[in-house]
Order: sequence, then C-alpha cells, then structure tokens
Amino acid sequence: MMHGALEDITKAVGETPIVRLHRVTEGLPPDIEIYVKCEFLNPGGSHKDRLAWNLVRRAEEAGLQPGGTIVEATSGNTGASLALLAAIRGYKCVFVMPDKMSTEKVANLRAFGAKVVICPTAVDADDPRSYYKVSRRIADETPNSFYADQYHNPANPEAHYLWTGPEIWKQTKGDLDVFVAGLGTGGTVSGTGQYLKEKKPEMTILGVDPVGSLYYDFVKTGRITKPFSYKVEGIGEDFFPTTMNLKILDDIVRVDDKECFRMTRDLTRLEGLFVGGSGGAAVAGAIKWAKAKKGPLKILVFLCDGGGKYVSKIFNDDWMRENGFLDEEPGIGTVADILRMREKQEIVTTTPTAKVKDVIATFKQLGISQLPVVDKGKLLGVIAEVDLLRHMVSGSRSANSTIRDLIESDYATVTPETKLELVQGVLAEARAAIVTADDAVVGIVTKIDLIDYLATKASDR
Ligand code: PMP
Repeated sequence: MMHGALEDITKAVGETPIVRLHRVTEGLPPDIEIYVKCEFLNPGGSHKDRLAWNLVRRAEEAGLQPGGTIVEATSGNTGASLALLAAIRGYKCVFVMPDKMSTEKVANLRAFGAKVVICPTAVDADDPRSYYKVSRRIADETPNSFYADQYHNPANPEAHYLWTGPEIWKQTKGDLDVFVAGLGTGGTVSGTGQYLKEKKPEMTILGVDPVGSLYYDFVKTGRITKPFSYKVEGIGEDFFPTTMNLKILDDIVRVDDKECFRMTRDLTRLEGLFVGGSGGAAVAGAIKWAKAKKGPLKILVFLCDGGGKYVSKIFNDDWMRENGFLDEEPGIGTVADILRMREKQEIVTTTPTAKVKDVIATFKQLGISQLPVVDKGKLLGVIAEVDLLRHMVSGSRSANSTIRDLIESDYATVTPETKLELVQGVLAEARAAIVTADDAVVGIVTKIDLIDYLATKASDR
C-alpha cells in the first residue's frame, strides 16, 4: 500500500472543510459570523455520501448480497452517492427521479452505469405514477434488491447522528451557536441536530424551507397547507417523511426561488464557493434569520451539493431570465402589487373565538368570502363562506357558536415578493393565498383579486 494513499475513494468521504463567509454577509454586525460546511467536496458530490455509507452498511447487515440491486427514489444526490458505492462494492442500481431534475443529474447517474427511470413531478405523492410509488414497485418486483427508502429509513438520520454531528463537534470543538440546514428528507437536520443538541442543549437548530413546501407552515401553524411547485432542487417536501423530526427545530425560515438562486450565484462569484441551489437557499435563510438577531453568534450553514449539476439552470442567464429570476424581466408583477392596489391597506382577520354570525356579518359588510384566522398574531387557517354554509346546512350548531372547528387549511402561504405567475398556479390548487411577511399576516389573495389586478393592468395599457 502506497504511503499516504487511501484504500478506495469511499475513504475520502467526510472531513469536509468549514469555511468563513466574508462578502455575502456584508451588512451583518461583526459579531455575527457565518461559516459553511463544504459537503459539496465529498467524492460523490454531496452530503449524501454519508447517507449511502450508512444505508448500504445497514442493508448488508440485513442480508444484501453482492450482485444485488439498489433501488431508490432520488432527486439525484442520493443516487450519485449510492452509485459510487455500488460501483466499488459490485451492486446494480435503479434510480427513479421526478422530471424536474436537471439533465446533468440524470447524466451523472447514467455515467456510473445506473438505470434511471423518470416520473412526472406534477402528480400527488400517492399517485401510482409518482416517483415514490414507482420506486417502491420496482423494488418489490426485482429479486435480491434493496429499497434504500431515504424518506423512511431510520439509517438516514442515523448517518448524520453517527457521522456529521460528531465531525462538526470535533472540528469546531463545540464553538458554534447555530446549525443551519435545508430541509429535504430531514436526515441532515434530524441526525446532526440531535447530536449537537445532546452535546450543547442551548444550540439553535434552524431549518430552511422553500416557499411552496409544507414544512414551514406546519412548523409555524400546525396546519397542513397546499404545497405548490418551486424550482430549487433537493429541499422542501409535499408530504411528511418519517426521517424528518421537526421537533428538533428551534426555528424555521422560508426562502423563495429567486433568493436561493441569487445567493447561489453570489456564493460562487463573491466567495468562490461553487454550490447548488439548496446551498444558496441555506445561506440566504441564515442571513435573513441572523438580521433579526443580536450577536455574538457563530452560525454554521450546511452546503449540500456543488454548482456543476446546475450549469444549465442557475448559472445559465437564459434560464434565469425565462423564469424571472433576473431583474431585467418585469413579469406581470408580484403579490405586493395586488396589495398596493387595494384602497384599504390593512388586512382584516378574525379570531377562533369569533361567532359564526359575526363572521357572516363581516363577509356581508366587506363583500368578501374568506378571512384569515389569527390568534395572538399567529396564523391558524382560513374561514370561508363555504365552510359556514356547510355548518349552517348541517344544522349541527347555531350561528352563536364559535368558528374554531370550522377553520380550514385549504390555502397556501406566499410572500409579498412571490411572482403572480406562481400565484396563478397556487390558486388552481388552493382556495386562497395568504400573504405573510416576518410571520405576520399581511394580506389574502383570491382568484378574483388576481383577475381584478390583471384586468386593471390590461385596461391601463
Ligand atoms: N440539498 C440537496 C441538494 C439535496 O439533494 C438534499 C437531499 N434531498 C438536501 C439539500 C436535503 O438534505 P436532507 O434530505 O438530509 O434533509
């Protein structure tokens, strides 16, 4: 064995460097320091190398034999890491991916000799065509196969509890106050978070979620709202994986695609960190969160994968422009434009203890059909005409009862910056879009508001 050599490439996983950010953090107080953990430097291209190690180790313990087939539903990174390990250990791989994933990711998996099956993104997670269901079926039908099941396999958070957490603790000697990670399967945040909290209970674990995903609203309000699609890859979900322990989070912050991609480009151009969109998301989220905090604070942000897989998207001006992520294209406007158009700027809300008859009176008086329900500043859900109608027709309760049991989750939350092109899609799925900024409800947008805004804009031309 050559001096200084590693046995094989899997031995190069981990011990990724922690690096300080300088230029993208300008404007933060000097005693708030942001550092990043460069997981994109792992041989398989992401933090999923750690997951692959633990998944395969556990599968071998459970009887997986060489020559067997590893099957997985993957947005690309888990596949790349499993494919790398499979190449060395002599397994075959079949990966099932949603069709929104970049062509580079598909090519990357095929380069390792893996079979890739593409499924539609725009179907529910329990639809038989969804990538979750298809991967499960392929695993069931393939002999001597192992379904890696990163969304439900406890070996996923365990990988980060056994490896990522201890590694960060050792590298920093515990000299950090906040750990920040994007939320996908939740493996990273749940495993690393649990380890770090066991070592230092006052550690803050901050999750970053894209606008459109379920996690943010659920953590903030306990409601399962309507998910909608977004472009950033690898983070956010439209269902709740069992690998996600949301209780580990001390706080959660939300970022939109534009914020993610702008920061991804800045990290590359200003810090020399060629990362993917979820890295931009995590840093954008960390900075947004830190702006409202007092130092001294040492914040460590987890950067999952590298920018090479996104050169046709985030690093391509045409793609960025087509999707309205560069400022040159005005688009049809943002939610803030609709809010500005209203004569009365303050938002009307109600509370869970309001009486049915009073809410009916408000609807009549203001000529509206739904209201956000807020309790002590916290959004609880929406109450709509149809819910009241159902209640009155069923005759179960009187007009004097409170609306508490009638509050619904049939809404999506957006921000003032959300583009109206996206809101149109949101309103095809949900009854209303509730607008929140810094966790306060600042507006509600329904189909008629959007139609009214567009009609007014068209008549101005
Ligand atoms: N970023 C990227 C690019 C990813 O592929 C993933 C995995 N889905 C994540 C972040 C989130 O990590 P985790 O699944 O451990 O929550």
